[in-house]
Amino acid sequence: MNTRNYADILGARVDLVNTRESLERIRSFIVNQQSAHVITLNAEIVYQAQNDPELLKIINGADLVTPDGIGIVWAGRRLGYPFEERVSGIDLLYLICEQAARENWKIYLLGAAPGIADEAACQLAQKYPGINICGTHNGYFPAEQQQALIEEIKGLQPDVLFVALGAPGQEYWINKFRHVLAVPVAIGVGGSFDVIAGIKSRAPEWMIKANLEWLYRLLKEPSRFKRQLALPKFVLLILRRSLNNN
Ligand code: UDP
Repeated sequence: MNTRNYADILGARVDLVNTRESLERIRSFIVNQQSAHVITLNAEIVYQAQNDPELLKIINGADLVTPDGIGIVWAGRRLGYPFEERVSGIDLLYLICEQAARENWKIYLLGAAPGIADEAACQLAQKYPGINICGTHNGYFPAEQQQALIEEIKGLQPDVLFVALGAPGQEYWINKFRHVLAVPVAIGVGGSFDVIAGIKSRAPEWMIKANLEWLYRLLKEPSRFKRQLALPKFVLLILRRSLNNN
């Protein structure tokens, strides 16, 4: 029986979870040795999925989809769903690592430019003494190396696989290999390794609190402008949907 409580945002199921509940679910995936796919979903990806049925299917087939980004939280509330807060990939990554050090979960970091996942692993080891990061690999591997990479991850048997290949590429990748890998939790975390390794900065706390993280990223990386054009279109779709519902 499906007991999940979720919002329907333009056809995408987003779990009505806060950060604490997301962590509890992730813990249960590890305890039950599931091959769970966790997605931290933002508005850009939901917009993209409107014209990409496969992506929508992947989102709706994931075991946990958290509301990442103020766009999703706003849309959910507008459509009448009681979202409490954003649950972002990087926040979950830190919290999972904190718990991993306590519970001895093994972590694998896949993604970002060569050297970045290693540096992120060093930073995480300093922040969470005792954490077991069993392996890392950069995200720019040629197709012919993919099988060896899969075998390496399978052999190391991590409990949590963080995949930082950018959205939605990382969601496609996890969906394709999750059952072969048999890792209890695989979660896409976008540009998180770059932030942890210190080559990119996250928005200041006041901007995060004011829900302006998207603006910070746009100012820092103007090349994201084209991608972020999806946001006003997403807002229009939600406004139209909410007016039709009334
Ligand atoms: N990346 C990668 N392999 C690729 C493409 C991207 O490892 O083939 C990495 C890239 O180096 C960066 C992350 O994926 O660390 C994408 O970061 P971004 O901030 O764009 O994440 P998003 O906003 O897409 O979640």
